[in-house]
Amino acid sequence: MKLHEVRNIGIAAHIDAGKTTLTERVLFFTGASHKVGEVHEGDAHMDFMPEERAHGITITTAVTQCPWKNHLIQVVDTPGHVDFTIEVERAMRVLDGAVIVMDGVRGVEPQTETVWRQASRFEIPRLVFVNKMDRPGACFARAMESLERRLDGSPVPVCVPTEDNRVIDLVHGKVYSFGGDRGEEVSTTDVPPDLMDLFNAHRETLLLAAAEEDPALEEAVLEDEYVEPAAIISAIRKATLAGRAHPVFGGSALRNWGVQPLLNGVLALLPSPLDRPPAIGTSLDGEEEQLIEMNAKEPFVGLVFKVQLMGGRRHAFLRIYRGTLCPGDSVMIAGKEQTERVARVFDVDAGSTKRLKEAKAGQIVVLAGVRWAGTGDTLCDPSHPVLLERIEAKEPVLGLAIETNSTKDEEKLVGVLHKICEEDPTLSLQEDEETGQRILKGMGELHLMIVFERIEREFGVQVRAGRPHVVTRETMGGSGQADVEMDRLLQVGDEQIRLHASVSAQTSPLGRNDGMTLDCAPSIQPSGAALSNAQVEALENGARDGMNAGPKEGAPLQDVAVKITKVELYGNDSSPQALRIAASQAVREALANAGGLVLSPIMQVEVVVPDENMGSVLGDLQTRRATISGQESEMGLSTILGNCPLQNLLGYTTELRSLTRGRGQFTMEFSRFDVG
Ligand code: GDP
Repeated sequence: MKLHEVRNIGIAAHIDAGKTTLTERVLFFTGASHKVGEVHEGDAHMDFMPEERAHGITITTAVTQCPWKNHLIQVVDTPGHVDFTIEVERAMRVLDGAVIVMDGVRGVEPQTETVWRQASRFEIPRLVFVNKMDRPGACFARAMESLERRLDGSPVPVCVPTEDNRVIDLVHGKVYSFGGDRGEEVSTTDVPPDLMDLFNAHRETLLLAAAEEDPALEEAVLEDEYVEPAAIISAIRKATLAGRAHPVFGGSALRNWGVQPLLNGVLALLPSPLDRPPAIGTSLDGEEEQLIEMNAKEPFVGLVFKVQLMGGRRHAFLRIYRGTLCPGDSVMIAGKEQTERVARVFDVDAGSTKRLKEAKAGQIVVLAGVRWAGTGDTLCDPSHPVLLERIEAKEPVLGLAIETNSTKDEEKLVGVLHKICEEDPTLSLQEDEETGQRILKGMGELHLMIVFERIEREFGVQVRAGRPHVVTRETMGGSGQADVEMDRLLQVGDEQIRLHASVSAQTSPLGRNDGMTLDCAPSIQPSGAALSNAQVEALENGARDGMNAGPKEGAPLQDVAVKITKVELYGNDSSPQALRIAASQAVREALANAGGLVLSPIMQVEVVVPDENMGSVLGDLQTRRATISGQESEMGLSTILGNCPLQNLLGYTTELRSLTRGRGQFTMEFSRFDVG
């Protein structure tokens, strides 16, 4: 397959908008899957991890190949839950284009907004599919309007659904109907008189958008002349690639209505890997930027965007940005000064594998036999090191104690946890020093529950979850000061060493998220004495030891200015060791004198509920000490925006369900550490 015939796309949506159903239809119509799997039957092809089936959501960035009209559409599966935002971002980076699925009744929803922002950040050209047009209350025009208003998008209608399961193709002036058992038979007619008004209204918007791109077209449009479909496509494609237009399609994935025209749109309007701007890389020290042009003959560079255990073995999903990779090649993990050999290169497809003899720039492949390369790592030709921007992992904010049901599984669990943390950098493992408990930290309750289920199903280790443990930080409520004179005799072998030094320290609070600062230029007694380099270093290290943990809970400290104000030296007894201990004590005491403040994770929440539940849901949020920042009502649904401490949101999903008889939806995202 030639690269200009490839489209690497993601399908993204708010949960329940129909992403999984649409993906299934895409697989079916392209022959990538021979049967259409319904989500509720739990046999969706892309959702190949068992726990995803149980939750009915998709969390793995698998890639599936769909051949369509002499092209290859590669669908990179993006997860649909905010807890897994990092996975969405990771997938976004390697996409060339995206299809954003919207619910035709509900319009833009909270997560539509999130994925839209992410796609904008990575400059991903996108099409929109307005789904669920079969539902009462669905409205194509209103969906376009909400795209414009809520996402600041530039919707351009391309295929408009009619009231009777047909689609008007505005570019070619045709109408499609979908027959056969599963909509696989597409028949085409001219636009009948009863659809002319709808056609004309939307075609005008399309033509005006095309005219903006091309002066020749502009004249033809103004003069009402006939415009060739190819000219319209070329203009809209140009605008789409530049992010100036968002072509809109519509229909119903569930009713097999409008999917094939969308696939044609992917080929016609979204970029191939060759149409994308060059990736940006830097030298290993980050100093020099370089453009990575997509060229198979230049030195190899690729980005690992997912590491996954398949059949218990480590596999890395890689997008190649430049050069050619063959099995047996040695590659460098940029920035880690590590080299490793790629044993096998596979074609990508969820679950199944086909070996490749070589892979070239623009391709997405799966590597086996890589031991160290992790998610976000750049792999490159060892003689041409280059670093692609790293994917930043977000901070895990919620922990759960994890225990095995039987002690004989203990050792196995440790191994499994390490493997899982390696796959997913948003997880981290910590041992509680006091209780010896293992705490697994992640992005939220659902994230952790899915991991727990995986451990049981995939690795056969029965585990129990302890009470949720919210990650905290500390800062100072006010300023503090301490003078410490440390005078201690140390027995080393036969010898006694005296450690003697006085250090004064001051601490004061900084603004939220200003970080930690250390000022280490003290006045020195006796006057005329000076500090050696080793003594200065010891003072600084001592101060940093003291700054490690807050006085209240021993949590990591943030937003504090520490100043070492005064040092008194006692000749040789004021060794670097003495200064380090005295400095650390002085800082600790100054912090304790100031008094600590515990900061907890504050989440940004968005709750969507039927209007009639608004009062009770708001009341409940207030008892959780949420601050409400916005409220909006549309189409019988109210959206509440606000901030709330994470510890007050534990179990909220269940509570919201019971308050709204299952109709309320809620998403949250980490905002900051603050006083809860
Ligand atoms: P996802 O969460 O975005 O992956 O959404 P799913 O594909 O799982 O769909 C959510 C629910 O909406 C399921 O019950 C689907 O059967 C249903 N659904 C999906 N597409 C349509 C559609 O076009 N029309 C209607 N009426 N329901 C749909």
